[in-house]
Amino acid sequence: MRRYVIAGNWKMNKTPAATRAFIGELAPMVAGKDGCDIVLCVPFVDIAVAAEAAKGTNIKIGAQNVHFKESGAYTGEVAADMLLEAGAEYVIVGHSERRQYFGETDETVNLRTKAALAAGLKIILCLGELLEARQAGITEEIVSMQTKLDLAGIPEEDLQNIIIAYEPVWAIGTGLTATPEQADEACGIIRSVVAGLYSQAAADAITIQYGGSMNEKNAAELLAKENVDGGLIGGASLVAEKFTAIALAAN
Ligand code: PEP
Repeated sequence: MRRYVIAGNWKMNKTPAATRAFIGELAPMVAGKDGCDIVLCVPFVDIAVAAEAAKGTNIKIGAQNVHFKESGAYTGEVAADMLLEAGAEYVIVGHSERRQYFGETDETVNLRTKAALAAGLKIILCLGELLEARQAGITEEIVSMQTKLDLAGIPEEDLQNIIIAYEPVWAIGTGLTATPEQADEACGIIRSVVAGLYSQAAADAITIQYGGSMNEKNAAELLAKENVDGGLIGGASLVAEKFTAIALAAN
């Protein structure tokens, strides 16, 4: 059985004080809802406060990026062991906003994934096609290529610490959601690429999330699909009631 994972991506939202208040509100609402893992990926400066506030709850904390070097002259970057020590268990890698605005490539996504794995973090590896790619009918080619490049050189045993988030770029923050069928199809394509790269057992075991304007209204339908094992949620993860409703749908 694959584990469902509902993860919030707060992006550049909430201060440490707002983080503490949010987790105080969320924790009783999701207590005992253990049919899925619940993760909040927060800004770097919120990680320590979030980890402290989440202690003793079923909420896990993640970061939104990680550098691929262990240390050194990389101003503004944060290394994997820093995230771990601050209290992060997960890290998002390759989010489309990093690819779009900060020059992230499949090569750096692969390097970041390897560095985070080596440090003992769990990875939420994001990939997905642009609108032009979908309109040109090359979604399968794009997500297959990204899956292969992003996982290059990563051994099968490390897949237990990797979640793949299929996030069509045209659906992120736009209010446009992939239909459940589109999400299922793309997650299924990624799963079959994993089967080809590794094994059917690895493909059957890996958690593949859908992300892109998932909310409390559409989550149940998306999560009901065979190949959709959870969600990466931006906007709706900033409101405790909405995020809870999505976690309940996954339960
Ligand atoms: C995201 O940030 O990964 C995301 C899916 O955002 P939203 O839910 O706001 O579309």
